[in-house]
Order: sequence, then C-alpha cells, then structure tokens
Amino acid sequence: MSSDTRRPLVAVAALGGTISMVPGNGEDRAVPRLSAADLLGGLGEDLAMDVHAETLAGISSASMDFATLVKTREWAARAVAEGAQGVVVVQGTDTLEETAYFFELTWDSEAPVVITGAMRNPSLPSADGAGNLVAALTVAAEPRSRRRGALVAFNDDVHQARWVRKAHSSHVEAFSSNPAGPLGLVSEGLVHYFHPVAARPAALSLVDADFSGLVPIVESGVEDTGEVLETLIKAGAKGVVIAANGGGHVSAATAGVIERALPDLPIVVASRTGAGPTFRGTYGFRGSESDLIAMGATMAGWLDPRKSRMLLHVLLATGAPRDRVEAEFRLRGDLT
Ligand code: GLU
Repeated sequence: MSSDTRRPLVAVAALGGTISMVPGNGEDRAVPRLSAADLLGGLGEDLAMDVHAETLAGISSASMDFATLVKTREWAARAVAEGAQGVVVVQGTDTLEETAYFFELTWDSEAPVVITGAMRNPSLPSADGAGNLVAALTVAAEPRSRRRGALVAFNDDVHQARWVRKAHSSHVEAFSSNPAGPLGLVSEGLVHYFHPVAARPAALSLVDADFSGLVPIVESGVEDTGEVLETLIKAGAKGVVIAANGGGHVSAATAGVIERALPDLPIVVASRTGAGPTFRGTYGFRGSESDLIAMGATMAGWLDPRKSRMLLHVLLATGAPRDRVEAEFRLRGDLT
C-alpha cells in the first residue's frame, strides 16, 4: 500500500449489499456481483485522494456475522497501521447500523471508519451508490473526522454510529439519527460538522472474543405470555435483550420469567419505540421499569434494542461479568 504524500490514503473494504448487486446471467433480480475495484472504477472522477480497495465479502447484509465483522475490523486496523487516514466499509443497508455500532464499540484508532451502501442498485435509474461512496470517501479523508469513531455517510448526511438506524425500507434517505439528528453533511465536496469532536467511551477489547451462543432480542407486546423468552432461556441463551414497551415495560407474565432468570442471566431492557430512553422511576406496576430494575435487569437508556444486542453480545463474547455489563450500559446508554 503506498500513497502520494500530498494526497490522503483511504482504504475501502467492500462486503456486498445493494451497492454491489446487479441483475445478470439470465437472472432479472439483483445479487452481489461487483467487486471493490468495480465500485471505485464506476466513480469516474478525480477524488483527490489515493484509494486502496479490497473485496472482503460479497454478501447480502442480512447474512452479516461476527466472523465477517472481526475480519473487517482487523483489515481496517492493518490498513490504518500501513498509512490509511480513514477507512470506508461498503455493505448492505439492512444491517448497516449494526456494523457501524460494532465499529463504534471496538475501534480504538483516531482514524474514522465510515460505513456506506446504497438503496438502489447500479442498474436502476438514480442509483445512489456512487454518490454515497464519494461522500464516504470524502468523510474518511477529512482530518476533522478524526476521533469521531464510526460514522455513516448516506444521502450526503453524516451520522454517528451511536444514533443511526435504517428508518425506511426503500427511500434513498433511508437513515435517521432521530432524535439527535445527523452529525454533519457533505456539500460541494466538503464535510460540514454541526458539533465539535466529543469524548467517547474507551474501545472494548476483542482479545480472545468468542461470539458463539445466542444473544437474542425478544419483543414485548400484546399477548406477551413470556413463553418465547422462557424457551430461549431454556435453549441456552447467553443473554437477552428485551425490546420492551414504551419506557421499558413488559407484561406481568414476562416479569415473572425475567425475575426467575436474572440471577443467572444478563437481561437488558431497551425501548422498542425507536426514540427516547428507558425510564428509571416513573411506574411501579408489575413489569414496569422500577420492578425490572429492582430485580436486577439492566436498562439500555438511549440504546435501541439492536444496539443493545450488539453491546451485550460483544461484552459477553469477552467474558464481561454482570457488574461490567451494567456499567457499560450506563456509560454508553445514559446521556445524563
Ligand atoms: N436494501 C438492502 C441494501 O441496501 C438489501 C441488501 C442488503 O442489505 O445487503 O443493500
């Protein structure tokens, strides 16, 4: 890997997703076919940077797994050690927010990692992949992106991994950081940040990480009998995230299951609403946030169920004891 010293070097890892999917070979539906070189070759403009691109996978992001995430993180760390000023990860949008949060949790470099993808594949009118990739490269090469951790560049917005989520299944403006709002945007080839660099919690180590075992999300709602949760616990789940109602509420039946399981199992309670924190002391009914906290459940604060699952899985993979799980959720989930 070498770079003209006057130009920044950015490393690009292509993992698949719509941005790399086109119909072909007699098939009229899109599947991953394009390599990292194809994606870069399609930009057709002077990027004012050197790019080192590699294809690390060619998958739909629904098939993203920890093995691919760890491999990509190690590749990114090597690229930075060899001189890259930033890294771009290109993948499908369906689980993009989880990849972004995995990097946010585990990335210990000042260099930015910028995740992007596309909603319209390259064979469609107004395909958005090339524009998103140029924006991601621009953000990754920008010195003011340093020490901001993992970012998502999409539709010319720049989102923090901490907040971003896919909020639409088909629009090109598919990502939202509701309720915090984007961190910045790209306009006329320049990155505009709305906020200065802020302190971030220390990166979680992945030394000897073992991601085997189930860490499921179980959603509460009408007719919440607790049986699904009980079945998963009996199946050997290592930890569970409850996508709970409102500010962190479950049915009385599920509260009973949680109470019986908690001495042995970490259980995190996150809000399924998509915005707003879990509560700490508003309600006192059976299954309320106060009831669950009194049992020893961990409240996710502002972290949504998917981010909570990522944090819990990474912590359990590295053998974090219960008090550490509680402390990390307080650190990363609470804004107060
Ligand atoms: N809409 C998704 C995408 O943007 C589908 C495929 C995937 O997530 O890999 O890429």
